Amino acid sequence: MYIVPEKDIATLVNRSDCFDAVEKVFASMARRRAYNFPVIREAIGHADALYGFKSGFDRDGLALGLKSGGYWPGNEAKGLTNHQSTVILFDADTGRARAVVGGNLLTALRTAAASAVSIKHLAREDAKVLGMIGAGHQSAFQMRAAVEQRDFEKVIGWNYHPEMLSRLEQTATELGLPFEAVDLDRLGAEADVIISITSSFAPSLMSHQVRPGTHIACMGTDTRGKQEVDAALVVRATVFTDEIEQAITIGECQHAVAEGSMGAADIIEIGSVINGDRPGRTLEEEVTLFDGTGVGLQDLVVAEAVVARAVEQGMAIEVDF
Ligand code: NAD
Repeated sequence: MYIVPEKDIATLVNRSDCFDAVEKVFASMARRRAYNFPVIREAIGHADALYGFKSGFDRDGLALGLKSGGYWPGNEAKGLTNHQSTVILFDADTGRARAVVGGNLLTALRTAAASAVSIKHLAREDAKVLGMIGAGHQSAFQMRAAVEQRDFEKVIGWNYHPEMLSRLEQTATELGLPFEAVDLDRLGAEADVIISITSSFAPSLMSHQVRPGTHIACMGTDTRGKQEVDAALVVRATVFTDEIEQAITIGECQHAVAEGSMGAADIIEIGSVINGDRPGRTLEEEVTLFDGTGVGLQDLVVAEAVVARAVEQGMAIEVDF
């Protein structure tokens, strides 16, 4: 069995590896060649922690396994990251444990890859202004992956906690792009592509603030009760997702579905667009929305890419198990 520790992940994969792996597995999901198993997420009644696991199997790439971890709010005081993830891969032919891989950086990379895939397939080709809602840990990864998909000339951003906006400014500067902090009216009026990545439980962006032709990647809502945009915006948009079942239960679509203004049949799997079975954007003026709920298969396929690279470079720790 191989072990690839968290500290080595950054040198073993890049954004392009993650993008390719995620795009491919979304396509396999839509062809019913890859599927996710039901997600477990529990408050364990210790250390205030939320623990869970996401798992699945990709029959095309033979990725089998799970990502386990969750949220430990007391970690920061111990000098650790609050979110903790570890991926365990199994041999699809024998069921034997194949690898244990650090999953913290991979989570950020695979989540950013998902919104980048949505931008590639759904945003207008002439998109120039990227709007960021959220300035937390994930936001910098999101921005870096997004700017590789279109010739963006500017980044504008809003955050509920304005003191965190320096992260967006710094990231944009590193990418050679000007950054401006704006209110949500300006963000919706000027951005061609909007990424929202917050832990909010109430909508920030309203439908009336968003101009026609915008592509929005809603990436923060991954739990029942969370919400980043108002339900009217979801109803107005042509909606795409990684997995429909998650979108209607724990994703951004949950609210529009609960109020009865949309159903599962109104949501298109991004994989079917990648496969060419469904159209993506069909009109310049159309608002497209990607509900990126985050599926276990994303974790498994990026972890597979890491293991392959680690073995190739002699960096995987091999143990008799
Ligand atoms: P973080 O704690 O570093 O940052 C949280 C962000 O949410 C900050 O920008 C903060 O200002 C904002 N925020 C907090 N309360 C808010 C409110 N009431 N209204 C509006 N904004 C508010 O978190 P992070 O690691 O950047 O993760 C952000 C979100 O992304 C979380 O909800 C996380 O669960 C989710 N996430 C989703 C996926 C996925 O696959 N879809 C993967 C990883 C993380």
